[in-house]
Amino acid sequence: ATPTSVTVGIGKGAEHGILIKGAESLELARKIQTIVLDKTGTITQGKPVVTDTTSILDLIPNSPGVVDPLTLWRSIGALESNSEHPLAEALLQYARERSKDAQLPTVDRFEAIAGSGVKGSVEGREVSIGTQRWFDEMGLDSSAFQAEQQALENAGKTVVFAAVDGHLQSAIAVADTVKPNSAKAVQTLQKMGIEVIMLTGDNQRTAKAIADRVGIKRVLAEVRPDQKAQMIQTLQVQEKKIVAMVGDGINDAPALAQADVGMAIGTGTDVAIAASDITLISGDLQGIVTAIRLSRATMQNIQ
Ligand code: ADP
Ligand code: MG
Repeated sequence: ATPTSVTVGIGKGAEHGILIKGAESLELARKIQTIVLDKTGTITQGKPVVTDTTSILDLIPNSPGVVDPLTLWRSIGALESNSEHPLAEALLQYARERSKDAQLPTVDRFEAIAGSGVKGSVEGREVSIGTQRWFDEMGLDSSAFQAEQQALENAGKTVVFAAVDGHLQSAIAVADTVKPNSAKAVQTLQKMGIEVIMLTGDNQRTAKAIADRVGIKRVLAEVRPDQKAQMIQTLQVQEKKIVAMVGDGINDAPALAQADVGMAIGTGTDVAIAASDITLISGDLQGIVTAIRLSRATMQNIQ
């Protein structure tokens, strides 16, 4: 009867938009003790939009080396058109609007620094776009923006900075919507006795604001892409937990593979899907609950 129940379980999963790769993950899902959720594209829609921009000139009127807005946005758009990060899409879209769809300049050199941002050369100018922490590391002082940045981050927005030729130009806030069922799914999982953790490369304050909205109490933020798998391992080894990871990005793939059960968002990257045991086709986090319930029901039939 065992193989039959598993086949039935996998079939039922498929009916609910949950693709289970093997019998093993169906058997293991009922034992999950900790669920780690990526933020962008997993808890949120992953379709960020630019909501606020502030020029350094609004704060320090005589700040040196500030380029005109059209030059700035054409440079940002050009650089971000080379990036695959979800934020890049938002910045590119906004740059296109600001530059009235005039053709964006070509980029002479481009570099993506995982977890930090992008930089390169556009029309002879050195342009960087990224996190406050990275700007700090490069010796670019963004403290003038501090109060505003904190307010935006407390509202759940991600703030990035732009610099041209070593001069800070602007702060740009990007907002992403929480998926309709994320809070409900988190609550149900917690009621099932499972700890839910958020894992993100984004900053503490923004991560905490989004976590609060969906009822997640434990947040692992500012985690570099190459440290995400290690975080899963720590939960497995030090906390001795059976861990599931849910994610959508290329960055999440090693963590999805490291987890006891990796679950990919169906609308996410192929790499994340390939690294996972289960795919939630629609990306609705309620699918996690369904997968675990299916596992519990299937294994009950077997025993
Ligand atoms: P996440 O876990 O949210 O995918 P990442 O580690 O990919 O986070 O990125 C962390 C942070 O680095 C982002 O929140 C953003 O502030 C910055 N960043 C990454 N890529 C870009 C980019 N292309 N443009 C601007 N900022 C970026
Ligand atoms: Mg993501």
